[in-house]
Amino acid sequence: PRSMNDIKIEVPEVRWSDIGGLRDVQELLSRVISWPIIHQERYRKMGISAPRGVLMYGPPGCCKTMMAKALATESNLNFLSVKGPELLSMYVGESERAIRDLFSRARSAAPAIIFFDEIDALATHRGADRGSGVHDRVLAQLLTELDGVEGLTGVVVIAATNRPDRIDKALLRPGRLEKLVYIPLPDLQCREEIFKLKFEKIPYEGLDFKECAKITEGLSGAEVVAVCHNAAIESITCGVVTPEIVQSAISNITPQTSTESLSLYHD
Ligand code: ATP
Repeated sequence: PRSMNDIKIEVPEVRWSDIGGLRDVQELLSRVISWPIIHQERYRKMGISAPRGVLMYGPPGCCKTMMAKALATESNLNFLSVKGPELLSMYVGESERAIRDLFSRARSAAPAIIFFDEIDALATHRGADRGSGVHDRVLAQLLTELDGVEGLTGVVVIAATNRPDRIDKALLRPGRLEKLVYIPLPDLQCREEIFKLKFEKIPYEGLDFKECAKITEGLSGAEVVAVCHNAAIESITCGVVTPEIVQSAISNITPQTSTESLSLYHD
C-alpha cells in the first residue's frame, strides 16, 4: 500500500476448523496471545505480564498467515496485516510514518492483532542495505513501537518469516517478539486432515486419504492444497477424482522446501 489507509482492519473469517492439523500450535497461540487479551483484568490482578509479540517461523506455505487469521477470528480480535516488503517500497520517511500509523490504528481498534508477514524484509541485520539506511530506520521505528505497546493494552504483534536467520536479534529481546513458534511442514496426520478437508466438496472414488498423506511427504500445506485443487480440475472431464489422478497431480508438483533447506530452521 502507498499509505496506511489502504490497510484494512478486519475480523477475518478463517476458523480453526479450516485448518488441517497443527492443533498444538493453535493451543499455544491461544494461550500466549488470546488469553492475556480476553482475561486482561485477571492477568493484571495477578501481576502476570504477557508477551507483546510472537515470531512464527518455518518453511513457506505452511499456514502461518492462516493461523494468525484464525486466531483473530476465533478470539474476536481485530486484525491488521502488512507485508514487510510493502513498507519498504514507500517514499523516504513514509515507511516510518506508516509503522507509527499502523500501531496507532491498532490501539484504536484494540483488542487487535498486528500481523507482519515477511518481517525479514524489514528486520534484516542492521547495515545489510549498504548505505541507504532505510532498513535501519524502519527497524528502529518498529522497535520503538514495540517497546511502546504498554503491557496489556490489547495490541499484540505476530510476525512471520521463512528466514529466521535474517532477523535482527534486537527484535527478539524480552518485551518484543519474545516468543518463537515453529510452524513445521505438515506431518502425516496433518496432510491426511488437509486431504479430508479439501475433499469434502470434491467427488472422488477409491481414494484412501491415509495413502494420499503417505505419498505427499515433504510437501508444504499449500502444496497439498494445490494437489487437491489440481486433481479436482482434472476430474472435470471424467467426473470423479481417482487415485491415479491424485498420483499424477502429485508428480506435477515440485516441493519448494528441500530437506537440506530445513536446516535453516534448526540450530
Ligand atoms: P508463506 O510463508 O509463503 O507466506 P504461510 O506459511 O503464511 O506462507 P499461508 O499463506 O497461511 O502460509 O498458507 C498458504 C495456503 O496453504 C493457505 O491459504 C491454505 O490454503 C493452505 N494451507 C497450508 N497449510 C494448511 C493447513 N494446515 N490446512 C489447510 N490449509 C493449509
